[in-house]
Amino acid sequence: MSRNPTIRFMVWRNFALMHSKSVKSQPSINHLRAYLSMGVKANSVKTFISYLLSILVQAKRSVLMARVILALVVFGVTACAERLTSHAQDSAASATEILTNATAITNVTVIDAVNGVRKNQTVVFDGDNIVSVQTAGPPADTARRIDGTGRYLIPGLWDFHVHLTYDERLTAVMPQLFLSYGITSVRDTGGLMHEILPVVEKMRAAGEIAPRVFFAGPLLDGEFVVYNGIGRPEIGVSVPTPELARQQVIEMHAQGVNFIKVYEMVQPEVFDALTEIAGELDLPIDSHVPLSMRARDAGPRVSSIEHLRNIEMDCAAGAEKLHRARLALLQNDEGISGAALRTAMHSEQRLPAIGDYDEAQCDIVIAALQDTVMVPTLRLNSFVLLPPWQRPDWQEALSRLPTNVSRDWQTQAERRRSSPAGDPLFANWSMFLTNRMHDAGVPFGAGTDVPINLSVPGYSLHSELDMLVKAGLTPLEALEAATLEPAKFFGLEGNMGAIAEGQVADMVLLDADPLEDINNTKRIVMVISKGQRVVEQ
Ligand SMILES: [Zn+2]
Repeated sequence: MSRNPTIRFMVWRNFALMHSKSVKSQPSINHLRAYLSMGVKANSVKTFISYLLSILVQAKRSVLMARVILALVVFGVTACAERLTSHAQDSAASATEILTNATAITNVTVIDAVNGVRKNQTVVFDGDNIVSVQTAGPPADTARRIDGTGRYLIPGLWDFHVHLTYDERLTAVMPQLFLSYGITSVRDTGGLMHEILPVVEKMRAAGEIAPRVFFAGPLLDGEFVVYNGIGRPEIGVSVPTPELARQQVIEMHAQGVNFIKVYEMVQPEVFDALTEIAGELDLPIDSHVPLSMRARDAGPRVSSIEHLRNIEMDCAAGAEKLHRARLALLQNDEGISGAALRTAMHSEQRLPAIGDYDEAQCDIVIAALQDTVMVPTLRLNSFVLLPPWQRPDWQEALSRLPTNVSRDWQTQAERRRSSPAGDPLFANWSMFLTNRMHDAGVPFGAGTDVPINLSVPGYSLHSELDMLVKAGLTPLEALEAATLEPAKFFGLEGNMGAIAEGQVADMVLLDADPLEDINNTKRIVMVISKGQRVVEQ
């Protein structure tokens, strides 16, 4: 096999037939619950009757006593029967009640990563709960009905990498923008606690129309912090020692973070402490591969990795040498800033490492990352391959932003459009590595890093889905990356990520088939968030 990445890129482009991952099935939690409660009821009736029978045996010498016991048995059985009947009546009453408050989407094609494609379905939801999904028969007796004929219903989408507080001009408008593009859940991967907490609280407040939000708090960085507020927003904090790392995570956990984000400048002993305390507190870890470590060592110890960051350095023939050189640079003898130090290391190692690509080395790395969700942010990594201004609907998306931001971004876009395009090596590498990892069965998450680099909230998630398909995922796998995989990251796959009984009522109704063209995820007719119809075209 060639070590020349350009040749390898061309080779993979010719692998036109991408295998598709088999769709996983899972038991419905509600079925399980119903089954369990039935078992308990049956057992208690049995126990009661056998208890009475044992008394009867003991009292067989006395006819009078036997009569008394017989009366007791009759009484007991009657009472039981009455209880069961009244329970059945209760159930029937609540079923009727559910239907009169519910909404049915009729005759719709349901698409999700758990069940694949199901045609002619009636999906009934009541508040924030999907009550049933059935092949369309006689119309359900529900209060409201939505005609799904010729339409496609997918689970609400996630943007798995957002920064709600990165640009204060956008913070307030982001929730509505996300919803308007069908994004009903977001994972915030970095913001200072005092900034992100009020935003999360507002989004979660009762009656607030906003996506579900999961957040990490600040980037946990090394002695030298990259995002320290100088020349770029302050979204990182320094955790220079294992003790401080532990303390920081314990505090953030008490403040309610849903996971932690480990950044690039942390030292291995701090990384150890972070993974240990996160494990104790049951917090998933999102990460950039720290520059002090190798992807094959750090990767398997975290739940997700962003931007494929620093993986190229471990895929090089000279990976070990590059690692030693990084350790020397990290001494930071010149005392430069965290941001400058990181940039220096990237520019010294990134492109040379890609040029030194070694398939056997990379196979070891990919094997180590089998269970780590990759969030390649291809919209960002491979920006030069398809900049947003080349997309026909970007101008319209831009017009939805506050005027000061849209003008600013328009100017940036025009300036960049007229300047020479950058080196596409890293962009191509990101597509190539995504393809190789996908072939090897590595799981993917769809995230954008919004609003960084002209990323319109909501809109850019659809660009990411498009790029994932261009990299080799099937449209259904791209949907999986924006629905089921994010749910699994938080252990919520029993309640989110599919359209099935017992799942939350986050759904997007489309008027074109997303499996035919992934860009049809933008053909939105209706968005249902937490059981509410929040967008209707
Ligand atoms: Zn980010």
